[in-house]
Amino acid sequence: MPKGKRRGLKGLGAKYGSTLRKRYGRVFVTLKLKRKCPSCGRWKLKRKSASIWECRLCGFTMAGRAYDVTPIKTS
Ligand SMILES: [Zn+2]
Repeated sequence: MPKGKRRGLKGLGAKYGSTLRKRYGRVFVTLKLKRKCPSCGRWKLKRKSASIWECRLCGFTMAGRAYDVTPIKTS
C-alpha cells in the first residue's frame, strides 16, 4: 500500500480539518526540536509539561512557553 503523503505527525488522521491539522503539525515539529540546556550545555532539554522544560541530564528545570522554550518578549 503506497503512502502518497509525507507526514511527520501521528494521531490525528483525517480528523479536525486541514487547518487544525496543519497547526498541530507546526506545534508538533516545534515541540520535537532539540534544545540546549542552559545549565550543562547539552541538548537534553525536553518539555516536562505545559511551559515547564527540564534537562534530562542535570535536572535543570526552567519555565518557558507551552510549546516552545523561547520566553515571551516583554518590552
Ligand atoms: Zn542540563
